[in-house]
Amino acid sequence: MRKRLTVSAALAAALLLTNPAGAAGAVGASGAGDVYYPQYGNGGYDVSHYDLRLKYQPATDQLEGTATLLATTTAALSRFNLDFALTVQDVQVNGRKARFAATGEHELEITPVASLGKGERVTVVVRYSGVPSTVTAYGFTAWQRTPDGGVAAGEPESAWWWFPSNDHPSDKATFDVSVQVPDGTQAISNGALVSQSSRLGWTRYSWRQTKPQATYLATLAVGRFEIDSSVTESGIPVTTAYSRDLGENAGAARASVGRTGELTDWLSTLLGPYPFATVGGYVPNTRPGYALETQSQVYYSPRIFSSGSNTSVVVHELAHQWYGDSVSLERWSDIWLNEGFARYAQWLWSEHENEGTAQELADWVYSSKPADDPFWTVLPGDPGPDNQFHAAVYDRGALAVQALRNAIGDEAFFTVLRGWPAEHRYGNATVADFRRYAEQVSGKPLGDLLQTWLYTAGKPAAGTAPALKAVTEPKSWQQIKATDTLHDAH
Ligand SMILES: [Zn+2]
Repeated sequence: MRKRLTVSAALAAALLLTNPAGAAGAVGASGAGDVYYPQYGNGGYDVSHYDLRLKYQPATDQLEGTATLLATTTAALSRFNLDFALTVQDVQVNGRKARFAATGEHELEITPVASLGKGERVTVVVRYSGVPSTVTAYGFTAWQRTPDGGVAAGEPESAWWWFPSNDHPSDKATFDVSVQVPDGTQAISNGALVSQSSRLGWTRYSWRQTKPQATYLATLAVGRFEIDSSVTESGIPVTTAYSRDLGENAGAARASVGRTGELTDWLSTLLGPYPFATVGGYVPNTRPGYALETQSQVYYSPRIFSSGSNTSVVVHELAHQWYGDSVSLERWSDIWLNEGFARYAQWLWSEHENEGTAQELADWVYSSKPADDPFWTVLPGDPGPDNQFHAAVYDRGALAVQALRNAIGDEAFFTVLRGWPAEHRYGNATVADFRRYAEQVSGKPLGDLLQTWLYTAGKPAAGTAPALKAVTEPKSWQQIKATDTLHDAH
């Protein structure tokens, strides 16, 4: 999705070896152990809460912040890392000034005055500032400067440009994000807007996410927005926000994102109760053409609506609230659990709208990709970091879901679809966990089927593929295809 240097496995192993965690007073690892992104996240502690108190000046892109992290050590630590790219002025650990150093592309090494014991509660306060659009890691910035402000929404990278964190989805935490911006400008983040107050020309917006959230699902947008509030039929508060600067995309954006409440209630009938206290979506005046399932406050680029409304993309991002946000991937290689199911939800929406059944969409995808198409070389179950958001993760990923449905039948399938988000609500899970769960619900062994569809290069034989008949393009196909660039940042 983005230009990025991938640290070699050998180098990653060396980094882990020089940073052994676990011994008394050891140095916390500089990565969380993710094979795809060895330097993302850190070792030695778990964060339970982020309190971010920010001030942002749209005219200059200047961001100032104080981040307070509540964490618990998982090892005795003489030193530990956070992931961060802006300039740090001061760090305190448990109320005492700590030494700190910026190293690597996005590491902040913190040395408390005294070693921390294993299982100790730790409060870390980091004061910082910077102009995020000018700060790069691996040669890029994920911060999107807009004519009236800036936006942080990116996967997997986004947090480094606005708050220090343990930047890996395996360490989820609750968030309070309070942002001061000049009067007349709005600030948007995840969850509920719990207060808004103005003083001396500045307005403070305070947002609260009360359920565990992965760091890449945290978002911040500052700009001139119109913010709308409503409540869904089932009672979920909805907040939507639109840049005042969407031009000719404004109508189509509202006609799509404005249906967030209705589509959330519809998805609840398939995926179980909506997992969060609030739901929403915002459309800033950014340029890249992607969307991201930022938790309970989805990010949509206006370009998605440049050829008209698209409810399919809203269904995709809202389905992630169950598949990806509430149940998060344990490692980035588990991406099929996010994208295969979010894409499949689009197929179910098509079915609901009488624009082609999921089976017809599966037939269409299967038949439109010849056996020698490189599409079939990408493994949705382990696509590698460079192909993490390849179309095959979505389309072949959804074909795998349809193959599962055909193998276990509709009754067991929809029980799995609804039961999985309840089974791991607010936690993390792997593809192997999913297999065990689906086998338990259906009573059928699924190893061969998942091996074929997720882990084997080449076009699966028609025997395990959806039933082939005369295949025509489903009505919904163009709208679904228009969402193929969902995660392409550039
Ligand atoms: Zn997605």
